[in-house]
Amino acid sequence: MTTPQSWEARADEYSLYGFTDLPSVHKRGAVVLTHGEGPYVVDVNGNRYLDANSGLWNMVAGFDHKGLAQAAKDQYDRFPGYHAFFGRMSDQTVMLSEKLVEVSPFSRGKVFYTNSGSEANDTMVKMLWFMHASEGNPQKRKILTRWNAYHGVTAVSASMTGKPYNEVFGLPLPGFIHLTCPHYWRFGEEGETEAAFTQRLARELDETIQREGADTIAGFFAEPVQGAGGVIPPSEGYFQAILPVLKKHGIPMIADEVITGFGRTGNTWGSVTYDFVPDAIISSKNLTAGLFPMGAVILGPELTDRLQAAIDKIEEFPHGFTASGHPVGCAIALKAIDVVMNEGLAQNVIDLAPRFEDGLRQLAQNPNIGEYRGVGFMWALEAVRDKATKTPFEGHLSVSERIANTCTDMGLICRPLGQSIVLCPPFILTPAQMDEMFEKLDKALGKVFAELA
Ligand code: PLP
Repeated sequence: MTTPQSWEARADEYSLYGFTDLPSVHKRGAVVLTHGEGPYVVDVNGNRYLDANSGLWNMVAGFDHKGLAQAAKDQYDRFPGYHAFFGRMSDQTVMLSEKLVEVSPFSRGKVFYTNSGSEANDTMVKMLWFMHASEGNPQKRKILTRWNAYHGVTAVSASMTGKPYNEVFGLPLPGFIHLTCPHYWRFGEEGETEAAFTQRLARELDETIQREGADTIAGFFAEPVQGAGGVIPPSEGYFQAILPVLKKHGIPMIADEVITGFGRTGNTWGSVTYDFVPDAIISSKNLTAGLFPMGAVILGPELTDRLQAAIDKIEEFPHGFTASGHPVGCAIALKAIDVVMNEGLAQNVIDLAPRFEDGLRQLAQNPNIGEYRGVGFMWALEAVRDKATKTPFEGHLSVSERIANTCTDMGLICRPLGQSIVLCPPFILTPAQMDEMFEKLDKALGKVFAELA
């Protein structure tokens, strides 16, 4: 066996990538990174990239935050690992649960920890199934989500995800129902106002529940802003329209805040930004500012009581991960929440969001940009062949992949998602770094659209 020499070749030879356009990587070579500086990452060849995706939305305090690294080191020295089984857990776990309930929109609640957002969604589904069965409703198992939603990759969370690529796994599992994505620009009908579109989606939800039978539905999950669907904020009044429908049918509403939690939309929660209170919150990513794999289910008062009653009946909740509530993860999360919420990071999102939007508004003058959309520090530009008719470019990823690759060559990392380019930089971004992001993106758009003209 010959040993490939370059880092790029070695990456390709021995590792499998997630969600990667392989022909493009084989042509261009992998980017192998060694370290970061603020919002920049540096590769093995010394190239520096402004990471306008915060890694995968999660490195919100940048790539070299000293306080966060110190919190991790301190905890590794003090108590480097423990579980949360058999009535034992670390002091850090206790403190983080108190903190999460304190910063939640709930007057009281309880927290369960996982290693990822996918597992947190799976855990929530199992909690609902367990709770409904214990209440004498074992048939209440169906899960409602929306097309374009991203809730993860485990068998259950991938079934919740509303993306056609899961067909290759024979997913979704039976009983996972996807409703219309609340993207007015793309799915609004000719002559339909945004308010009427929202009402149509609320009616669709009501009719779906009636058709399936409320007594067969376990819960409804939604991201306040669909992230990996291409940054899709809800249509006007969306949550205000659907929540009463869910309430009428007694169906719990779970906000998947894996991306929108802890400052991404400016507030602690996306549900605060969009003015609704869910029955539970799913958190991950920003929870540890990306420094530790951790997810959390935060239950509001009603689900806390109902789940607790179910647990009391059999005296156990038979679920948990070896690293649930890991003390190092909890110590990092406590520090991350403080850094993001109290040390000016979320405030920077609020302060710079108007400048972000201005920059995008200018880029959207381009005849091949159909729409810009977003909130806080999560935005997308959607490329179109024809602006008036909203006709997409040919091929699923080709145009956005070309733009993202051109940006990478210029030292800017941004993410192609469908026909859109997603920008979700770390919260520490300065105005000058934001300008750098827009200058590079502008050049890349000009180059690619000229090539495709
Ligand atoms: N939920 C949402 C809204 C996400 O964006 C993601 C990941 O991007 C997940 C869940 C899954 O999280 P993880 O990749 O940690 O499993």
